[in-house]
Amino acid sequence: MIAGFDRITDVHIHIQPWRELKPAVLDVMWRGEAAAQRDRLIQLMEDPRALLEVMDRAGVWRVGLVNYPSPDIMGFTDATNAFAARYARANPERLLPYGGVHPRYTKDPAGDVDRLVDLGLRLVKIHPPHQGFPANAYVDGLAALGAIYRRCEERALPVMIHTGTSIFPGARSKFGNPMELDDVAIDFPNLAIVMAHGGRPLYMEEAFFILRRHPRVWLDVSGIPPARLLEYFPRLPEVADRVLWGTDWPSPGVKDMRQNIAQFVALPLSDAHRKAILETNALALFPAAR
Ligand SMILES: [Zn+2]
Repeated sequence: MIAGFDRITDVHIHIQPWRELKPAVLDVMWRGEAAAQRDRLIQLMEDPRALLEVMDRAGVWRVGLVNYPSPDIMGFTDATNAFAARYARANPERLLPYGGVHPRYTKDPAGDVDRLVDLGLRLVKIHPPHQGFPANAYVDGLAALGAIYRRCEERALPVMIHTGTSIFPGARSKFGNPMELDDVAIDFPNLAIVMAHGGRPLYMEEAFFILRRHPRVWLDVSGIPPARLLEYFPRLPEVADRVLWGTDWPSPGVKDMRQNIAQFVALPLSDAHRKAILETNALALFPAAR
């Protein structure tokens, strides 16, 4: 355990059905330091008990398992939803399964959101650079996307939207601009929106504007090097009651959940803000009692 914190939620890690990934994507995933750890990562993605041991050692209570369909770019099909639900069954208190509905391929957007709820999924992930549309594409003809947001709003299911760039082959980083969330937050005022990565590394000013303007938008700091978080968001304390801890582990460049937490704890933030970001804010989106 990290001194003083025994209820840390990391809202953003990647445990996925890796066999579905396209070969070119796997090349990126396994490159560099990850290559040496490849067998270890495969074990983690196949065995939730191995992940729970890693969490214990890292001092992490709960993790959010990011999954979403991206058949064209990443290779993930709708089977990713069943994967997340099944994986999390090993410990529903500590493993929060996320899933998604692809608005270009669904024939029943609201029904598909309902089916995610039935599966026990806790959040819907939208990944514009990996799914090939801006986050507000419903204003421009992609009606199914609006229907997905609407149903999530009705079912009180949070939506996480990737913002910022992506290095995977075929990813369209221009769809990572957080300004598109302005429409979503206006049109679906009761929807809880988690802005993943704060637009890193290109769009932090837009991200901060959206956060200040919309009280139902949360910042997930995953993917931002924790030691540099206050360089990216110098006014972070102003929105600290809506900042969520996340790491993006084990993505390339994110070695260790514990190391990231230690770097975050060393930042010049107040104790109250540290506790809110690491522990209590996430309880508002994901209450412990089911
Ligand atoms: Zn991620």
